[in-house]
Amino acid sequence: MILFWHGIDEIKTYAITGNLSPGVVLGGLTVEWTKDAENAVKKVPFFVRKKVRARVEAQVAETGKKTVTLTDVKTAQKRHLQKMSEEIKGYQIDTCFGPGGCPNRTVHSEGLLERIEKMIVAEDLLSFLKQHVPGDLKYHHEFRITLAECPNACSQPQIKDMGIIGAVVPGITNEACSGCEACIDVCPDNCIRLQDSPQKPEIDLDRCMACGKCVGVCPTQTIQGVEKGFRVQLGGKLGRHPQLARELPGVYPEEKVLDIVHYCINFYKRNSRQGERFAQIFKKSDFDFLVEKLRHD
Ligand code: SF4
Ligand code: SF4
Ligand code: SF4
Repeated sequence: MILFWHGIDEIKTYAITGNLSPGVVLGGLTVEWTKDAENAVKKVPFFVRKKVRARVEAQVAETGKKTVTLTDVKTAQKRHLQKMSEEIKGYQIDTCFGPGGCPNRTVHSEGLLERIEKMIVAEDLLSFLKQHVPGDLKYHHEFRITLAECPNACSQPQIKDMGIIGAVVPGITNEACSGCEACIDVCPDNCIRLQDSPQKPEIDLDRCMACGKCVGVCPTQTIQGVEKGFRVQLGGKLGRHPQLARELPGVYPEEKVLDIVHYCINFYKRNSRQGERFAQIFKKSDFDFLVEKLRHD
């Protein structure tokens, strides 16, 4: 069983005694571990093991005991699962630091996340999970949506059930270009070059990430945003079988993003029978079906 625990940092000293393993000093007491307690904690993934140890030791030190037993490990585990179960709300929604004032923001998405959350709350994913997941609910059962306000994708949309990324697609207008090359300098993906006579920018849209930076710097409005909205990625996850999300073709306005979220949540509720992640059940054929549907909507 994989657990994720948060805890205090341990302060370690070593005192090896018979069946007991190295202990820690907490509140003036040296806390030691029995072999079976030590073996149990070794089954916890290495990247959280230190925190788990610290939590169990703190729990034992609170009682004035000097030895961590298997029962203590199990008690700590049970408490953790119970706490996790109480904290779970059925979904996780987050955003990048864009709304905090990041200068790279391609779009300002204020309001979209709140609208998505309102929709998810109405879908009552927590009750759905409680009905379908055998045993305790854990964080990894929750449906995850993230929003990044530019293609730098700081909130990791590629590994979430749904990732929403702010986008501005640039286009060339008939306004005369001054040849200042500000667009070339600012493009992080080297998508722009200038044609001679008449001087005019050319944009390689296959490589363009729709960050909108060239639009922002063009003094003559030769380059302007022709589409503004959000790219949408579906079906990413980490875990035992990690996979990156697939991106729907196109850029979608806010209302369409809400439609896509609604569609995906309902797909998830129809098809996740035992708490499987959206990424596990949303196959390539389901993705292609949605692409076709969006094309005809
Ligand atoms: S994703 Fe873009 S807007 Fe959001 S914090 Fe990162 S760089 Fe800033
Ligand atoms: S939108 Fe961004 S990536 Fe695309 S051409 Fe402009 S600066 Fe380059
Ligand atoms: S398209 Fe705009 S930013 Fe680019 S060279 Fe011409 S005037 Fe300058």
